Amino acid sequence: MHKLTRASLALNGLSRCFVTEKHLSAIKITRRGLVCADHGNDVYDIIISGGGMVGSAMACSLGLDPNLEGKKILLLEAGNKKVMDKVPDTYSTRVSSISPGSATLLSGIGAWEHITKMRFKPYKKMQVWDACSDALITFDKENVEDEMAYIVENDLVVAALTRQLDSLSENVQVKYRSKVVKYTWPMPSQEADYIPWVRVTLANGETLQTKLLIGADGPNSMVRRELGIPTVKWNYDQSAVVAVLHLSEPTENNVAWQRFLPTGPIAMLPLSDMHSSLVWSTSHSLAEELLALDEERFVDAINSAFWSNENQSDLIETAGSLFRGALSALMPSAGSPRQLPPSVAGIGPKSRVMFPLGMGHASEYIRHRVALIGDAAHRVHPLAGQGVNLGFGDVACLTQILSQAAFNGKDLGAIQHLLEYETERQRHNLPMMGAIDLMKRLYSTNAAPVVLLRTFGLQATNMLPMLKEQIMAFASK
Ligand SMILES: Cc1cc2nc3c(=O)[nH]c(=O)nc-3n(C[C@H](O)[C@H](O)[C@H](O)COP(=O)(O)OP(=O)(O)OC[C@H]3O[C@@H](n4cnc5c(N)ncnc54)[C@H](O)[C@@H]3O)c2cc1C
Repeated sequence: MHKLTRASLALNGLSRCFVTEKHLSAIKITRRGLVCADHGNDVYDIIISGGGMVGSAMACSLGLDPNLEGKKILLLEAGNKKVMDKVPDTYSTRVSSISPGSATLLSGIGAWEHITKMRFKPYKKMQVWDACSDALITFDKENVEDEMAYIVENDLVVAALTRQLDSLSENVQVKYRSKVVKYTWPMPSQEADYIPWVRVTLANGETLQTKLLIGADGPNSMVRRELGIPTVKWNYDQSAVVAVLHLSEPTENNVAWQRFLPTGPIAMLPLSDMHSSLVWSTSHSLAEELLALDEERFVDAINSAFWSNENQSDLIETAGSLFRGALSALMPSAGSPRQLPPSVAGIGPKSRVMFPLGMGHASEYIRHRVALIGDAAHRVHPLAGQGVNLGFGDVACLTQILSQAAFNGKDLGAIQHLLEYETERQRHNLPMMGAIDLMKRLYSTNAAPVVLLRTFGLQATNMLPMLKEQIMAFASK
């Protein structure tokens, strides 16, 4: 680790000299050319702030990279360590639809095998339909071997990553219950209190330094805020009500269902032959009402949201079926038949929770010695099940870029290669975020012209297998 490093110390006649990295981190060069000890603080090569699904995956991914061997890596998490010796009897309320691309990442960092040994549910098909018309689209995997995605409880993902981090303890240090309360950014070298690294202060008063800080501290990222990175963000007029659902009878349950109601989408994601997970995005007031209902009326509301035709009108119905008829005449074998979702009989005890929904995008993912990943950089509506998948994409990209930088002996916190990360990820994340936001807006109305437009669009897309393949390929990265 302490390789001979050439450092330019061209200040007041000190000119160029050779120092080791160890020495470089322990010295402070002032404007007057004085060299003094730098408070003896620990200097890490990389500190990751935030050990949720994305930060923990980042820590595993860096800890396993051969080019980063010997680097000092630290993960800081404000919460407790999440260990799971055995699979809990009940399902957790918070689940994620994990794309095949994310499963490949988790597999490469040794967490997927553990997840599959614990509990997960693959699904092969997704049916999305409009409550204001009969229009529907189905995405399915023709190949029996292929899965469309996997539903996994968030706690299980974190527990699998935590287990992997335990086995990587020689490469990655983890501090739980360690909330960061302050960041001090590197100052220009002309300043009297020049520090070359990012300084991180913990709630217990401990101060650490790092050559690269990775902000994985979620949608309200303190790293992003304290850096003053401009962020486009707004709160949607919706909250998501989530719950564990008990189905009325056992089914194969390998379809993800989503129906667009005028108040927002309701989704039922498979967990087992008898259980599914509910994500019902709706107005804040309706969400509060749903939380207050007794179990029986809540279950009635869910079944009615999936089955009722109260939002349909004769005009839209007639126009939709004429258009569908014309498409079928042109492409007789295309399209897919409507399937009916399972009915719900009950909910898991205390599983009903509500989350306000919003969208946010940091205009910059990087600064000198800092990179943002996961929800700290981008937050999306859950309707496409993409939030954590975008975060795992960040992890794969940043690991590859840092690995290459380490291989080439470059400074990990240098802006040049961090810029590559930003460009690559924004190219992927922005179109996805735009598409999700457009869908949310397109389906948030029952105005007839918009309903007609989306009915025709959905029906036409459903008839075009090539287009559906492309949509699936984009969403499965
Ligand atoms: C209802 C709902 C359904 C969803 N469904 C899906 C889905 O199906 N598929 C999908 O891909 N995504 C889904 N998402 C999105 C997904 O949950 C998020 O994208 C994901 O959890 C973000 O992970 P993260 O690690 O970036 O952030 P977080 O999960 O917010 O983790 C941040 C971590 O940082 C820690 N932290 C924060 N501040 C500090 C600090 N100062 N010091 C130390 N630690 C700190 C926190 O304790 C936390 O552990 C859904 C979201 C919602 C709301």
